[in-house]
Amino acid sequence: MGLDSPIRYLKGIGEKRAAEFAARGLYTVRDLLYLFPRSYEDRSKIKPIEQCAEGETVCICASVYNAPADRYVRRNMLISSMQVFDDSGMINLVWYNNKYVKNNFREGEKYIFFGKISRSKQGRLQITAPVYEKYGSERFMGRIIPIYPLPRGLSQKVVQSAMELALKEAGRLDEYIPDEIRNRYKIAEINFAMQNIHFPADFESYNIARERFVFEELLILQLALNERKGKNKANSGIYFEDVKCIRGFTDELPFELTGAQKRTINEICRDCRSGRQMNRLVQGDVGSGKTAVAAAAIFMAVKNGYQAAMMAPTEILARQHCDSLSKMFKNYGMNVILLTGSMSAKEKRAALGAAASGEADIVIGTHALIQDNVEFAKLGFVVADEQHRFGVEQRAKLLAKGTDPHMLIMSATPIPRTLALILYVDLDISIIDELPPGRKPVKTYSVNGNMRKRVYNFVADNIRSGMQAYVVCPLVAETENSDLENAEELAEKLAKAYPDIKTGLMHGKMKAKDKDEIMEGFVSGKLQLLVATTVIEVGVNVPNSNIMVIENAERFGLSQLHQLRGRVGRGGDQAHCILITDGGNEITKKRMDTMCISNDGFYISEQDLKLRGPGDFFGTRQHGLPEMKIANLFEDRNILKLSQEAAKLITDTGLDRYPPLMKKCGEMLSNEIIMN
Ligand code: ADP
Ligand code: MG
Repeated sequence: MGLDSPIRYLKGIGEKRAAEFAARGLYTVRDLLYLFPRSYEDRSKIKPIEQCAEGETVCICASVYNAPADRYVRRNMLISSMQVFDDSGMINLVWYNNKYVKNNFREGEKYIFFGKISRSKQGRLQITAPVYEKYGSERFMGRIIPIYPLPRGLSQKVVQSAMELALKEAGRLDEYIPDEIRNRYKIAEINFAMQNIHFPADFESYNIARERFVFEELLILQLALNERKGKNKANSGIYFEDVKCIRGFTDELPFELTGAQKRTINEICRDCRSGRQMNRLVQGDVGSGKTAVAAAAIFMAVKNGYQAAMMAPTEILARQHCDSLSKMFKNYGMNVILLTGSMSAKEKRAALGAAASGEADIVIGTHALIQDNVEFAKLGFVVADEQHRFGVEQRAKLLAKGTDPHMLIMSATPIPRTLALILYVDLDISIIDELPPGRKPVKTYSVNGNMRKRVYNFVADNIRSGMQAYVVCPLVAETENSDLENAEELAEKLAKAYPDIKTGLMHGKMKAKDKDEIMEGFVSGKLQLLVATTVIEVGVNVPNSNIMVIENAERFGLSQLHQLRGRVGRGGDQAHCILITDGGNEITKKRMDTMCISNDGFYISEQDLKLRGPGDFFGTRQHGLPEMKIANLFEDRNILKLSQEAAKLITDTGLDRYPPLMKKCGEMLSNEIIMN
């Protein structure tokens, strides 16, 4: 027998059991070996009965004092109990509704039992439904025992036995992580690791084994991603003759670029002369100056004789970008135009004409940019703002408006770098991790619901002194069984409580046109207080607003809170963010504290990942990550780093030099595990 033998050939596995395994995608011995335990039971130490305490999970070695006695307490409730003893004492064992258990024991015989000690109604210590084996022929006692994510219809014992056999039958496994990589990163050899991931000699060995498989899983993922990226790199790209011209723009800016901005611009310039199509993601906190970087790149593209396009997720953002870029490019004779869905037919026709003829150098718009009727004379550079709002398909459509134009994607949702490498595998990444000097960080407070009145009085006073404020709620309208704040009701309440303040309401269920109207009112200052759902998350800029109140803040991801908070503090005034939470547990408290102490989006996203785990962190957003069998993207981030380093070494040498690894990567890719 070998790794590829069907599970069916293992002793004790009949057709029926084999089918249960198959239902979970487990067919061969190899499949079985890679079914890793979800936890372990430490049955390595036998405890004297006398020393067993309530709540403990223990192994005892004891003889049967009297064979199980059955009694019905109700018609359908059978209790079987028996007493067992060792040198130190006696304890009661209990089973519920198990007709057959009494046949399994004989008076005076010795067994090993494993289970949790509880206290009966009469106050005596007992173990309910312990696992047991006959003393002397025990297989799964006296050591650390794996607990598997159970294929339905199979007991732990069946899987444990099958696994033990599989390990034996598989024989010596071939190593496929190259020795030089294993030595360099101190990764355990596969035979040791396989034995100890299933039946650890001790917890130290388990740790070493687990580390190996985490490393392996992440390494193969990373290698597969590298492969795919390599393939996608094939597109040749436009060559910009003159990249130095960019200084003509940056030197004239009213401020000195930050180091991070300069670094990013250099990376873009390098890409635009590489001969390959640029596919670059710029990640940076709100206000870190991504737009300035994009503008410089657009300037360079136009100077090189190409048109540029910039796509924003909302009408308002598109208009804001158009305004600011028009101002920036005014002195250079560059023609910036707008294209959005809400423009009149006549305006649209003019814009489409200007794009197609080449009269427009820069076209800024919404989704309207990727409609079929939009054509460009010579599109060489595209920018997608706030990329997580755009799918891969939409980006592709924008790219298709030119012949392999360079693409710059901007994101204000910082995520830990190691994760970004996986999530955005097709992209090169620039990180702007430095804010322009002189920014006053937003002061953030976390308060309890009973402070609400004071909070809103503070907001009102601030508005009366000429500023504006946002209030964000998790819900649009009242729903059953929910005591979360909803925007509709709160807007009404606030308008009633503060009749002198002009209050607006905005949420995702409104028509785009109505939303725009409200936002317009807020931008122009006609509205002073905006009650909204997270629709305001995306980069709208109202410098006069300096307070952000967030209701039921515990309901939001930290990165999202950070993003929302970035809406204020864009002017010179001290800005405040007030997080209101009702109740909340330790984790809520920690999460809110993180917001109060840090203004660093990268730090915050890392904490969020840590406190909530990857599932919640990514929320419902399609992230395209394959499900990890053993690695935890936060807990194992150190190993993740190492595996990325190792993957780079291997990719640089050429994966084809390592056939076994290449095969593993191929399997991962062909399984379409990676969606993206
Ligand atoms: P982002 O798009 O990353 O949120 P912006 O590019 O909109 O940030 O920049 C926010 C504000 O900071 C803008 O008013 C911009 O003019 C200004 N700004 C950008 N870079 C700098 C810099 N290096 N020094 C000072 N101010 C800057
Ligand atoms: Mg921006």
